[in-house]
Amino acid sequence: MRRTMSGVGYVYDPLYLEHELPGHPERPERLRAIMSHLEESGLVSQMTKVEPRDATIPELRFVHTESLIEEVAATAGVDRHRFDADTYGSARSYDAALRAAGGTLAATEAVLRGEIDSAFCFVRPPGHHATPDRPMGFCLFNNVAVATARALEEPGIDRVAIIDIDVHHGNGTQDIFYDDPRVLYFSTHQFPHYPGTGHWTEIGSGDGEGATTNVPLPAGSGDDTYRRCYTEICAPAVRRFRSQFIFVSAGFDAHFADPLAGILLSARGYYNIATLIRELAGELCEGRLVYALEGGYDLTAIAWSARACVDTLLGNPFAEDPLGAGPAVPGPDIEPLLVEVKRQHTL
Ligand SMILES: [Zn+2]
Repeated sequence: MRRTMSGVGYVYDPLYLEHELPGHPERPERLRAIMSHLEESGLVSQMTKVEPRDATIPELRFVHTESLIEEVAATAGVDRHRFDADTYGSARSYDAALRAAGGTLAATEAVLRGEIDSAFCFVRPPGHHATPDRPMGFCLFNNVAVATARALEEPGIDRVAIIDIDVHHGNGTQDIFYDDPRVLYFSTHQFPHYPGTGHWTEIGSGDGEGATTNVPLPAGSGDDTYRRCYTEICAPAVRRFRSQFIFVSAGFDAHFADPLAGILLSARGYYNIATLIRELAGELCEGRLVYALEGGYDLTAIAWSARACVDTLLGNPFAEDPLGAGPAVPGPDIEPLLVEVKRQHTL
């Protein structure tokens, strides 16, 4: 079929800016910074807009309990709500969360229909800490998990990989699919750190044993360490799994400039990881690849790191960013960790 649209889609909706709590790090300016950078650099015009929709309650029920859905829905129209010490709701948070999950669904469906090959969902609130029954860690509904459940409904899609590059462990996503052999969850994250989960001994359970792969990294890990984790563990794990669709939980808080964590990735480091992920999607999944925004709290770092990922989807070279390379400090010795993770997963 002759393509009339760009092969790379994106999702954005101004409603995503209406989830807000003054002074909170998970703020609308994050998304504004990314979108204005992509517009100014001309990248938005190289992508195809995918119109977001609202997730339906039955779609949310694939991964969340009725009580979680009701808890979030009850905050509609409420100016200020605290789900926990970190996680807030504002008057339009429920609407934004429905559309964040629904936007990720819309992108996934456009990829499944073959209208686009890949997409980046610029959504808020983020999702990967939301467990089946609890909003947490700034997250209300688990956008990537909801979309993964949708992809698995598609005839012929039986194996989906979720690659979580956020600096925090995606405990919610891990919980949701912990015993599901159809979902490979791979995460690199700072450890020990919030939320406390993600030890390498967490490998899934029951039929899903082995389908969860955690690479817990010490603070100070940088581009070289990440390159090893992705080439030596992520790529062989995703290949062996024969993934048919890849989602990326795209957190940019592993950037060295991020105020909430101590990992030292640069925008170029993100570009290199995203290049490898795109190659895997091309090799295994006919290109089917959907990114959804998670964390990242330094505005310059997230704008340029998101752009680096978009550039890999578009086949563009790396664009030098103003923050440059991370601090020139020797990385921690992760050899024993890699040996252990490889042994655990027979990689
Ligand atoms: Zn994070």
